[in-house]
Amino acid sequence: MVLRLLSKTVIHAYESTALYHELYKGLDPERVISPSDLERLPFVDKHLIKEAGARAVASGLNCVAIQNTSGTSGELLFLQRSQEEFSFIQAFYQELIRRIAPTGPRAILLLLDVPGHGTPTPVPTTNFVLQSSIVSKFGAARTEQILKNRYDMEGIEPHVSSLAGSLSQIIILTNYLESENSLLPGLEIKRISVTSDYMSPAIRRRLARYWRCDNIVDRYSLSEMFGGASSCTQCGGFHFDPILVPELVTLGSLKVTRSGSGRLALTSLYPFVQMQPLIRYLTDDVFELRPSPCVASSYFYLGRVGHCLIDTFGSQDVLISGSALYDTLDEYPFVVRQPASELAGQGRTSTGKPFVRGSQSFKDGRRLVVLAVAVHPDALFSAHEKRKHEEGVRTTLLRRSPHMRALVSGGEASLAVEFVTMDDQALKTFDRQAVIWTSA
Ligand SMILES: [Zn+2]
Repeated sequence: MVLRLLSKTVIHAYESTALYHELYKGLDPERVISPSDLERLPFVDKHLIKEAGARAVASGLNCVAIQNTSGTSGELLFLQRSQEEFSFIQAFYQELIRRIAPTGPRAILLLLDVPGHGTPTPVPTTNFVLQSSIVSKFGAARTEQILKNRYDMEGIEPHVSSLAGSLSQIIILTNYLESENSLLPGLEIKRISVTSDYMSPAIRRRLARYWRCDNIVDRYSLSEMFGGASSCTQCGGFHFDPILVPELVTLGSLKVTRSGSGRLALTSLYPFVQMQPLIRYLTDDVFELRPSPCVASSYFYLGRVGHCLIDTFGSQDVLISGSALYDTLDEYPFVVRQPASELAGQGRTSTGKPFVRGSQSFKDGRRLVVLAVAVHPDALFSAHEKRKHEEGVRTTLLRRSPHMRALVSGGEASLAVEFVTMDDQALKTFDRQAVIWTSA
């Protein structure tokens, strides 16, 4: 099915948008029939789509919604969605539910999100969905009531049994309930699905412990794309939905790679996306393809481009990934984090990313990498303990970074980790993009 839709996707974009018509001229777009044929076509990115404006929008469709990106990487990108694609998605998922939906009462899902991406694409689901968002204590108390309530409705289960939403909202809810010592009798959460942010093992363990639920799925998604990828407990990686075509490209020369790490490019398939086709859309995210026991390819998330230390002068390998950094630092409660909201808490319970800065320089043919980690001024440890923790971070980070480890043991690089305390002014210089690595 994917092959047929891929061919239609390229032809639709070529015939109905001025941008792709220009980009694909002379490239035989009608001969793109398999994912490897995509390599003949150029990439597009957020900047190009934004610049193209109406020229990137397909003609002859009825716009009914505007969606936008989160803005974490700078400017917002606005995308138009049509009645035609919304109607197709409705019909497609209704048919899917008719064929595979379980019998019996419908489960209640609590969806926690802060609206920020424009009008969402409505997607039919087998769950009965209750919505809430937490931006204040009042919102947290209301959400607690939604969880505690018993619902006496025919064909519906009596209690909420699934949680879904952005990772920060789910952490805020967990923090709130923990601080209130709230008892939730009758509540049994069978599934948690989180989006929007990378979930490190430390955060996963914390959610699993509090909710007594091991079925936690991390969803990778982009507001630009319909569909995404889900984490898999079997292989530990992500599997992309079959309505997207993923490609990994080398970080320097943008050549397609079928193993190792690379920047992710995505193609969203027609007719799920019609009005704003995105073909070979370069994301800011780095993944690694690893051998997998699963049928679908396993993609491991390494972080945003700016969060990864990349060997731009040599192999193009990821020397230290953003995910290795977060996996390591999330284990240390005294690391300062971005305050995501007044309810976010600090230390271990904060929803924000750790404040960390890395720099690399070159001296006498060696790469010198220094990582400065912001720690709370009131973190009480002796000079000896501080050194022990710094060494702990360094050792764990190297264990999770095979390319960097090889350079360090070969004498070609050094890694130093230092804990620093920063005043409020210094902390304000960390922006939402949170670019970590700089080169000198
Ligand atoms: Zn798997």
